[in-house]
Amino acid sequence: MTRDLQGRTALVTGGGSGIGLACVRALAEAGAKVHVVDVAGPAAEAAADEVGGQAHVVDLTDPAELATLPSDVDVLVNNAGVQHVAPLPEFPPERFAFIQSLMVTAPFLLIRRCLPAMYARGWGRIVNMSSVHGLRASPYKAAYVAAKHALEGLSKVAALEGAEHGVTSNCVNPGYVRTPLVDGQIQAQADEHGVTPEDVLEQVLLRRAAIKRLIEPADVADLVVWLCGRHAGQLTGASLPVDGGWTAG
Ligand code: NAD
Repeated sequence: MTRDLQGRTALVTGGGSGIGLACVRALAEAGAKVHVVDVAGPAAEAAADEVGGQAHVVDLTDPAELATLPSDVDVLVNNAGVQHVAPLPEFPPERFAFIQSLMVTAPFLLIRRCLPAMYARGWGRIVNMSSVHGLRASPYKAAYVAAKHALEGLSKVAALEGAEHGVTSNCVNPGYVRTPLVDGQIQAQADEHGVTPEDVLEQVLLRRAAIKRLIEPADVADLVVWLCGRHAGQLTGASLPVDGGWTAG
């Protein structure tokens, strides 16, 4: 692992768990000082303690709380997200609005907040944690698919505006990653259909992937660090699948 990010500062939302935690670790390993943002206080503190970073216990759906976060960072990783699975006629409108607030409005507010310092420095890296569901739809995930598709658009606009200021913006698009978010989905579907978690994994989650195993959080975090590294300056406005071939099919 290179120390490309020595002297740089990064902010990772949802940094207390799963992919965000892996990003916190990988960015710190690459030399960055990391701000760990999460609504789950103990998880944020533990992650920050582990890497010598700083925890910020913030609910990103509250713009007033979000406005307390540091704005002078070199790397912004918009990662926090949640899932809700329900058919459209039954999808709770307030849950839909909450998911757009967390997964679209908060990234917009953070990008808006962090760009001035990046522009002043002439360098910045925005990485938006999208999903295969930013590129493809699945039934029963209306809010999540809508939010990830919106994040794709936001990321491209940031790429176009940031280009002349040395700022890149990209999406990373994982398939199913072994995290608490996915463990919860596996168990919920196993309970609902009266099958084993292994059946759900093979017949539902990995059905569309060519490589029949879950992706590890560190696989995704490695790509995030690479996007911030010395060879990625020309890569912007892109969406990079880490999906075991899902979107190739
Ligand atoms: P996770 O549940 O392990 O972690 C999400 C983190 O976000 C948690 O620590 C949680 O406390 C935090 N969070 C939730 N609501 C928040 C709020 N209101 N304010 C601040 N923090 C909040 O999830 P994960 O699987 O690591 O997912 C991280 C991102 O990766 C999400 O955007 C998700 O959509 C995306 N993603 C995940 C997968 C996967 O298979 N796990 C696949 C593709 C994309």
